[in-house]
Amino acid sequence: MVGALLLAVSAVASGEAIRGTLLAPEAGKSLQLAIAGGGTVDLELDEGLELTMRDPQLAKRLWELRGQRHEGGRFAVEKIFTVKEGELHRVTYYCEICHITTHEPGLCMCCQGDTDLRELPGE
Ligand SMILES: [Zn+2]
Repeated sequence: MVGALLLAVSAVASGEAIRGTLLAPEAGKSLQLAIAGGGTVDLELDEGLELTMRDPQLAKRLWELRGQRHEGGRFAVEKIFTVKEGELHRVTYYCEICHITTHEPGLCMCCQGDTDLRELPGE
């Protein structure tokens, strides 16, 4: 189990990058990533990132998470990307009316209208 976990982790300049899919979120518990190659890890992330990762529109995505592994195996997430057709995408939300891009799901901060999920290629 631990060996598979280590194999799935590749070193990057700003910590580690892990890829995997989200386990079905349980109420009141931290999110868990099922790592590609085996194993699961508990995620520590701020509210905005957590809202994005809990977005039902993204439930089936493969994620690439960058951050730091803490003692006890928890992974402190600093950046999140979706992986589509092997390419990293930034997750954004866009209001067509106000032309405002945000990084969290929810209503537009300006007009309170709906925002559209947009995954933009690149880091
Ligand atoms: Zn708006």
